[in-house]
Amino acid sequence: MPAFSSNESICLPIKFINDLSQSQDLSETLNLISFWLPKIIESDRASVCLGNQPEHTLEVYALFGNNAIEAKTILPVKGTMVGRVFQNKTLEIQNNLLDSDDLDCLKLHQGGLNSCMDAPLQKLGNCFGTLNIGSLSTGAYQHQDAVMLECIANWLANYIHSQIEISEQKKRAETDPLTETSNRRCLTTVGNEMFQKWQNDSQSFAMIMIDIDNFKRINDCYGHHAGDQVLINFSSVVRQVIRKSDHFFRMGGEEFVILVEDGGNSIAKHAERIRQAVEEMSVQYEGHHINITISCGVTVVNKQDHELECVYCRADQALYRSKQNGRNLTTVI
Ligand code: GH3
Ligand code: MG
Ligand code: MG
Repeated sequence: MPAFSSNESICLPIKFINDLSQSQDLSETLNLISFWLPKIIESDRASVCLGNQPEHTLEVYALFGNNAIEAKTILPVKGTMVGRVFQNKTLEIQNNLLDSDDLDCLKLHQGGLNSCMDAPLQKLGNCFGTLNIGSLSTGAYQHQDAVMLECIANWLANYIHSQIEISEQKKRAETDPLTETSNRRCLTTVGNEMFQKWQNDSQSFAMIMIDIDNFKRINDCYGHHAGDQVLINFSSVVRQVIRKSDHFFRMGGEEFVILVEDGGNSIAKHAERIRQAVEEMSVQYEGHHINITISCGVTVVNKQDHELECVYCRADQALYRSKQNGRNLTTVI
């Protein structure tokens, strides 16, 4: 951080803080910062760039003012000032853009700007991107401006860090760690949402309940680890067969549910495709080739259903019939 003394202060508009405190999500916060920044540090442009780590690029995510470099532009880390600030995690000022060979500086200059300043968005050694401002004037930014930009960048980085933590925790709370499918808690949420859409807009859906046949034998014959591997491979095969709009959940043990949007007539065929794909799957485990079959219970939501539980009970009954009729079957009720 640029050196500053403890009696230096920063003046922020009340409306800025008020808007920030009412922001609903990360995207809104980034846009608010870009909107207010040129009013806090006199500028003609402000933007946030976020890093795409594996690609070594930065994306202009939020932008306000002069659009010499437009929103959504992908900038390389190499050969740009933002890239250098991102990589070195050190603020830079360029008070005469004509002096720079950096790609972004050239673009900004072509768009009429003459000064720019970029600050890293860093927290605990991670850099999420950069906070950037630009001015039409030459020599626009001084030490005090750098202190302010870095101060706001550090606050923003802290906020981004918390948002990432929250979304990762939410994902963990809704994901089964073994198979990486959504868990039962998530089924309740998604199922109730679909049931609500059915009641409000008659948007139909279907449920496929799946239970692996004689799974206990797999554990007994090959051990619990082999059973785990079968569950992992089974989930991966199902993910390959289902449609993008389907929702796949592990209920617990060797029981799974798929919620299918607009289930309709083709639902039995869809379940059969899944059943056949699993039947064809072979799991290699310590020299063994393990094959499994599944039983499916299928049902489509109907007008008599007054809650999700009704759909769930019918799918369960259908599954029970598949088991009673010899397993490796699909039953529709
Ligand atoms: P059915 O065809 O009637 O469904 O017979 P089944 O053997 O599949 O059913 P049962 O309910 O008797 O046994 C299910 C077994 O699944 C018992 C349990 O030990 C095993 N199981 C549950 N969760 C896991 C898991 O996470 N990993 C492993 N390896 N086994 C599990
Ligand atoms: Mg079972
Ligand atoms: Mg079973």
